[in-house]
Amino acid sequence: MHEASIALSLVDLARDVLREHGAGRATSLTVRIGEWSSVVPEALQAAFPASAHGTPLEGAHLNVVRVPGVGECPEHGPVELELARGLRCPTCGAPTPQLLQGDELELDELELI
Ligand SMILES: [Zn+2]
Repeated sequence: MHEASIALSLVDLARDVLREHGAGRATSLTVRIGEWSSVVPEALQAAFPASAHGTPLEGAHLNVVRVPGVGECPEHGPVELELARGLRCPTCGAPTPQLLQGDELELDELELI
């Protein structure tokens, strides 16, 4: 259960932020998940309540924002990649081995009480 450990580290991260702000609880948190990361948003959302249980994050709503993959085509510059085609420019098919965005997993927003 890869997502369960990710949910736990998200809870840890959010608790640090709460502590920094002297906030007691959070009502919701938003994470950005790249379409090219190995994280399955549904699995993360399913794992979250158990990880948040007994913490200041208990009952908080987890929002997921999907971040599309963007590669750099020598011909077309930054292009939005299609998962089905792999690391290739969708227009000309040139390989775009470097992912400019789309493999992230980050805490974006935390709504505090
Ligand atoms: Zn291209």
